[in-house]
Amino acid sequence: MLNLQKLPKIDLHCHLDGSLSVPMMERHLGRRIAPREICVDSGCTSLTEYLTKFDIPVQCLQTAEYIEQEAEAFLESLVPDCIRYVEVRFAPILSTAKGLSCREVIECVLRGLERGKEKTGISYGVIACAMRNVSPDMNMRLLDDISGDSGSGVCALDLAGDESRYPNTLFHELFEEARRRRIPFTIHSGETGNVENVRTAIEYGASRIGHGLALIQDPDLMQEVARRGIGIEMCPTSNLQTHAAPSLAAYPLDRFLDAGILVTLNTDNRTVSQTTMTQEFTLIRDLFRDESLLQLLLKNAQETAFLPTEF
Ligand SMILES: [Zn+2]
Repeated sequence: MLNLQKLPKIDLHCHLDGSLSVPMMERHLGRRIAPREICVDSGCTSLTEYLTKFDIPVQCLQTAEYIEQEAEAFLESLVPDCIRYVEVRFAPILSTAKGLSCREVIECVLRGLERGKEKTGISYGVIACAMRNVSPDMNMRLLDDISGDSGSGVCALDLAGDESRYPNTLFHELFEEARRRRIPFTIHSGETGNVENVRTAIEYGASRIGHGLALIQDPDLMQEVARRGIGIEMCPTSNLQTHAAPSLAAYPLDRFLDAGILVTLNTDNRTVSQTTMTQEFTLIRDLFRDESLLQLLLKNAQETAFLPTEF
């Protein structure tokens, strides 16, 4: 049987703010943090509740030094999990409360990741998240920060936040502009049961879709996703916690694969969801009792990564 911990892996959907080091946050805040403040438990009822666990991490990610240290520690934390390539995402807009600009936040993260890469040999791509609950102007300015020469180091755009309150249709202009500027993007869609958000993401030209679970409601749309080679970034532990999927038995990963969709396995938030790639792979192996499936998921990750990956 494969040793899943030692299996070289790729994680394409991992939020930096949801994957911070608890001891570093405690040192930074000068107090102990109770697990329920930053991690979900089995009593979590929705994505809206899940998102409240980001309050403390976001409160911490406001100074250049701290952001840089966390980005470096993030890559180091992936070593035991045998991650070879990670696409780490974060919302620069959320780290501007104490005066940093979005560009400065991105540069801090890149500096920290580069130091982490030197130490660990783990390659990375950076995805900048626009936010659903901020003004269109702010998201458009983020686009400026990741475009052209100033955009070096960022491989794609994402849209994160509460999908049930802010549907994708509100962000038509943002993605039209991203497409015009040839910035590839993934969009969190279909995480709260809304298949229309998945349809809109595809219409906008998303290369990948975060979670995409609601896609199971529409077999024709599943075929379209397969035909276009759009990657679906699935995160089982997180999806069960937010009730995006009612149970592991009902998890549609196998049906997506059967439809020829490029499904990948990812963590979403290592700290908030208390998970690792090894745990996600273990969950899927135990569910489907099929090791060849794991190789397929890795191959799909290589194929749908925003940067070329080799290992
Ligand atoms: Zn996510």
